[in-house]
Amino acid sequence: MGIESRLIWMDGEFIPFADATVHVLSHTLHYGLGVFEGIRAYQQPDGSPGIFRLDEHLERLVDSARMCHIPLRYTVEDLREACLETLRVNGFKSAYIRPLVFLGSGAMGLGTRNNQVHVCIATWEWGAYLGSEGLEKGVRVACSSFSRHHVNANLQRAKVVGHYVNSILARYEANDNGFDEAIMLDTNGLVAEGTGENIFLVRRNVVTTPPVINILGGITRDTVIEILRHDGFDIREQQFGRDALYIADEMFMVGTAAEVTPIREVDRREIGPPGKFTKHIQQVYNDGVHGRVPWMIERGWITLA
Ligand SMILES: *Cc1c(COP(=O)(O)O)cnc(C)c1O
Repeated sequence: MGIESRLIWMDGEFIPFADATVHVLSHTLHYGLGVFEGIRAYQQPDGSPGIFRLDEHLERLVDSARMCHIPLRYTVEDLREACLETLRVNGFKSAYIRPLVFLGSGAMGLGTRNNQVHVCIATWEWGAYLGSEGLEKGVRVACSSFSRHHVNANLQRAKVVGHYVNSILARYEANDNGFDEAIMLDTNGLVAEGTGENIFLVRRNVVTTPPVINILGGITRDTVIEILRHDGFDIREQQFGRDALYIADEMFMVGTAAEVTPIREVDRREIGPPGKFTKHIQQVYNDGVHGRVPWMIERGWITLA
């Protein structure tokens, strides 16, 4: 189950996996201006693959490009077809889908605007991002010494390639210190998110998550909020400091890659095994992405390939 597939969609056509290469002078490779998405497809009750919240992901991709002055020649509809076709030609039932918009070679330098914009869509079979044991028992996390980007240093709402240097530095630091994942605080010291996941905590039956100000507004985050509202629980979008983490009854991280991953320890303070909110959300999310939750289907959250 490597990062492999038969074909990759590149600028409107399918090319063999091994031939999907780029020039070393591709602009994005040097400076990081490019945008991407992370999407998952899950096998549905009828056996076919269904992509979870595909349109929301593609709308965010288009928005990300727009925020970055990257002209895209494809619409959400074009990209929807391309994602579905990529899944079909590779024959996957459950897979991760990675559209990437990047700037090609031609000119170099930061002021360049005329390099060709390329779009590729790859897919591969990808298991639990933070490990299957983490998904079941919870992960151990630590607040990072690296701050999340200041709101005015980058475009936090966009999934920009270069943003992930900050995330990688935090993730390496956490892993080198023996933790599974990092929690990133913003430049005011308030809790922002994980390196590629949003964060939720539960205290006294109230679920809280930071508002979308200096974090990436995750589609999984939104899904969790909708699950809580649908099931009649209190959900607050509110900022909090690391102290709130230490007295949480439950905590979990969410993202397309990480799905709903419980947190069992933060900064060497025990939170405990996954609690009732975490387990409930994990269950509903898992059922939902597999096409077993009627209200999610009614909202058009599953696109069958
Ligand atoms: C992609 C990402 C998330 C999760 O977003 P989803 O839409 O739920 O996949 C959260 N934080 C960061 C920094 C991300 O890049």
